[in-house]
Amino acid sequence: MPILVMKFGGTSVANIDRIRRAAKRVGVEVAKGYDVIVIVSAMSGKTNELVGWVNETSPMYDAREYDAIVSSGENVTAGLMALTLQEMDVPARSWQGWQVPLKTNSAHSAARIEEIPTDNLNAKFGEGMRVAVVAGFQGISPEGRITTLGRGGSDTTAVAFAAAFEAERCDIYTDVDGVYTTDPRISPKARKLDKIAFEEMLELASLGAKVLQTRSVELAMRYNVKLRVLSSFEEQSDDAGTLVCAEEEIVESNVVNGIAYSRDEAKMTLVSVADRPGIAAAIFGPLSDAGVNVDMIIQNIAEEGRTDMTFSCPTDQVTRAEKALEAAKASGEINYHDLIADTDVAKVSAVGIGMRSQSGVAAKMFKTLSDEGVNIKVIATSEIKISVLIDRKYMELAVQALHDVFELEKAA
Ligand code: ASP
Ligand code: MG
Repeated sequence: MPILVMKFGGTSVANIDRIRRAAKRVGVEVAKGYDVIVIVSAMSGKTNELVGWVNETSPMYDAREYDAIVSSGENVTAGLMALTLQEMDVPARSWQGWQVPLKTNSAHSAARIEEIPTDNLNAKFGEGMRVAVVAGFQGISPEGRITTLGRGGSDTTAVAFAAAFEAERCDIYTDVDGVYTTDPRISPKARKLDKIAFEEMLELASLGAKVLQTRSVELAMRYNVKLRVLSSFEEQSDDAGTLVCAEEEIVESNVVNGIAYSRDEAKMTLVSVADRPGIAAAIFGPLSDAGVNVDMIIQNIAEEGRTDMTFSCPTDQVTRAEKALEAAKASGEINYHDLIADTDVAKVSAVGIGMRSQSGVAAKMFKTLSDEGVNIKVIATSEIKISVLIDRKYMELAVQALHDVFELEKAA
């Protein structure tokens, strides 16, 4: 029988009533003839509560115990979902990650999936089980310890199962009815997309659109898993939600398909560093060793052998960055006059595969921001994305203006 993967996020399993509603959706697919692998998150708020308990108990916690604790929310929902399905006379059972087993590496709290053997589940499907309810977010390390895949990791569990079992589709049920051109809370003109390309979704996910864990999109792209994002709160037709798929499956597309933003950015400037070969390596090497995720970088034109170097990173990594740079200065690897951190900035990005073949997108974006009186502090581009760093107080304005100028409210 064809296999379907259905993933339910925290709000979709937040209480017994919602679990029943989700189980009914599963029942509909079973009735169509699918064997279903259901991936569940913890009830909404549960993982945060568990993380809080860990921090309260042990600020410098053992990551193996952190994983043992925070993975437990999913065990509860997997069991409850299996029971609910049984009540509906659907043959179902729960599986924890280690029982499958979903094998990962040993990077606790951010583990990577290495293998999902299919024999155990397939044997049960062969015996008449119609639904395998798998606890998302968790796996087992080579040492036999429980691991977790990072916050939001159930999305990645779902896509990995879809790839391993060659599922017909991977449906991600959540509290929004799809992927939008931008955050509807910021621009009321935001439009739900029927389809979006993997590459665009990857940019949007990593740029701060919180619908899907970035890694799940990477995996879906690599294994060409058809991924659909849809709401568990509405009756759903077969073409509901947003399909995340290969570029070739999208016939018509706007040049810009999404405006993403991220509030938690900081801009750091090293004032007056020596302009010599190796200076960038001497600055960004220590930052990378300290685990700072540097995003945008600009180096100014040098004057009399000295230059300013500016980069952006997440706000909560500023202290770490400062420490790393101060240490590099103390050891004589680099020299600078001043280190300035600006934490009142935000990043706004325009994303679209159409940019590959169409010029003038950057110019239009910069003109729009200039007309609104928004000063651009840093610019970064890729083939399908243009990002700017601006004062945070202009973030909403910039998102709305760009959504308007690229006419994202209209379908292609
Ligand atoms: N419950 C986990 C979290 O909140 C995993 C997930 O829901 O995807 O991060
Ligand atoms: Mg999520």
